Amino acid sequence: MKTDKLATIAVRAGINTDQHHGAVVPAMHLSTTYSLKGFKEKRDFDYSRTGNPTRANLAEVIAELEGGSRGIITSTGMSALHLICQILSSNDTLVIPHDCYGGSYRLFTHLAERGQFKLIVIDQNNADELAGALALKPKLILLESPSNPLLRLVDIKAICAKSKQAGALVAVDNTFLSPFLQKPLSLGADIVIHSTTKFINGHSDVVGGAVVTKDDSLGEELAWWANCIGITGSAFDSFMTLRGIKTLPIRLRQHQENTDKVVAYLKAHPAVEAIYYPGLEDHLGHEIAKAQQMGFGSMLSFEIKGGDEAVTKLFANIELFTLAQSLGGVESLISHPSSMTHAGMAIEAQIAAGIKQNLIRLSVGIEDVEDILADLDNALAASQRV
Ligand SMILES: *Cc1c(COP(=O)(O)O)cnc(C)c1O
Repeated sequence: MKTDKLATIAVRAGINTDQHHGAVVPAMHLSTTYSLKGFKEKRDFDYSRTGNPTRANLAEVIAELEGGSRGIITSTGMSALHLICQILSSNDTLVIPHDCYGGSYRLFTHLAERGQFKLIVIDQNNADELAGALALKPKLILLESPSNPLLRLVDIKAICAKSKQAGALVAVDNTFLSPFLQKPLSLGADIVIHSTTKFINGHSDVVGGAVVTKDDSLGEELAWWANCIGITGSAFDSFMTLRGIKTLPIRLRQHQENTDKVVAYLKAHPAVEAIYYPGLEDHLGHEIAKAQQMGFGSMLSFEIKGGDEAVTKLFANIELFTLAQSLGGVESLISHPSSMTHAGMAIEAQIAAGIKQNLIRLSVGIEDVEDILADLDNALAASQRV
């Protein structure tokens, strides 16, 4: 049955397509190689780096959820970001946001240093900086909205329109929201990128990536490169991710329901100095979030009173939240951007980027929200004790 309902697409991916045994859930195809039907007679698949039925299933469902024509499954989110660089030659310009994911920043700056392309790093919310960058006729502009860890947003539709006029392709890293909460292709983007490690798999047990293109020929070109370089995702990871993706909409519903309560709780807490969450009316990107997202997500960060000592006490007393990087899994995670995800940045650079020492990031999980709140309550109280 043809449908445009995302929850149905996610659950039904590959279901009941087995022609041999009637297996409801398609088998995982671990074979590296596939026989020819006969001499010079090809089948759909020949070698698993190039194509694999399990991976193809995942590629198809992610492309469909994003409303794209072609999906490519890569070994990691970083290899998905590396893959899109293949369309750039040494004279082409790539524009990235100054507050993009740290791994992306590292990748693009180091490739640019080697002369693989020209790189411009800007604040994409600054109209002058954006106009200046687009005047240089870049080939590709990468957006990331919301950003990490301050949940800054950019107006995807507006930037896509301006980029199109300048002849630039737009790629959006949609990792923080997933296609259930934001669909960049429908806002004018050409490419969507995911670290499927996060919400799409959602169980913190697979590292993977995906690239989805609106245009079939661009997808064809990138799929060619993915095989050429050898960065396609494994069958096992694809199988696991297919399993995870089925529950993405209901996971997100619970993630967001819990997050609403966490935000309301933190907002009323005297030890909390600031909260960064797009669902808050006083958040800088709130209006953009309402316009371009189908939900506010389950990532947030906040600052607490009491300096380093309070931060240390909070982390010493948090129990349910696990102190770890990453995000988007069913379990609640807590992290300290300054010493963890953004430790590669000098303190001055962190401060310039708005990342203070007392900033704490949460990836709110789907545990019972009363336990989540009790844990925060206990740790926050401990953080303020003298
Ligand atoms: C985690 C992450 C990546 C990198 O993905 P990996 O799967 O860790 O390689 C890229 N972009 C964003 C926004 C991320 O959160």
